[in-house]
Amino acid sequence: MRVRFLGTGTSHGVPVLGCACPVCTSTDPRDRRYRTSLLIRGDRDDAAGESILVDAGPEFRLQGLAAGLQRLDAVLITHAHADHVHGLDDVRPLTRGNPLAIWASEADVAELRLRFSYAFGSGQIGGGKPRLDLQVIPAGGIRIGRLDILPIPIMHGARLVYGYRIDRLAYLTDCSHIPPASMALLEGLDTLILDALRPREHPTHLSTEQAFALGRKLMPGRMFLTHLCHDQTHAQLEGLCTASALPFPVAPGYDGLEFEVQ
Ligand SMILES: [Zn+2]
Ligand SMILES: [Zn+2]
Ligand SMILES: [Zn+2]
Repeated sequence: MRVRFLGTGTSHGVPVLGCACPVCTSTDPRDRRYRTSLLIRGDRDDAAGESILVDAGPEFRLQGLAAGLQRLDAVLITHAHADHVHGLDDVRPLTRGNPLAIWASEADVAELRLRFSYAFGSGQIGGGKPRLDLQVIPAGGIRIGRLDILPIPIMHGARLVYGYRIDRLAYLTDCSHIPPASMALLEGLDTLILDALRPREHPTHLSTEQAFALGRKLMPGRMFLTHLCHDQTHAQLEGLCTASALPFPVAPGYDGLEFEVQ
């Protein structure tokens, strides 16, 4: 399968509105970080190929246009924080044929039904509403096309949210702790994508060092960092990755980066 980082930025995005720091004024395009989101496409490039979105943040439409997105089979929601779901209305043109399955935890399905109440009410008729088919993802996972998808319960501060394992890829954005039972679901990974907000510790996100420490325990084939704030440039983060001396390749993600997962 092919994976594309649609966004790698923390909740306020980078550049931060009104900020003149060196990262926010950097001319390196890799320092422009839309809100965190991922696109997973199966090996077939035709209508039978899987096309799965993880989270739909405020820049979803721009991210989809940049990726040449034509269709979606499903959206996986990690949690209903604004930076992960407030672009959900923009799936509307992709729901003209059929409703789009939106998979989330039971609590987040209830939250999304409230947040997007206009989409489920009877008041507005005539194509102005996205056709969202909200579904609670079972603990044992689902299969979409040829891809096995497993929700991974992780802690985001005091809140239980989901990461996802898709075959040998694990995507854990917005994470401050991985419970032991979930660590056991993350063995044998080709690629681990992990929250690494900033070098300093934070109550609801992993720091760069904490992400490296988890990588050392999980030993994936390689690792990418995401949900990045404006404390470090991409080049500085690359320096931290080199200094980590992890026994597998590790790199910061950046918007538009694509790679294959075996
Ligand atoms: Zn977030
Ligand atoms: Zn800044
Ligand atoms: Zn969050």
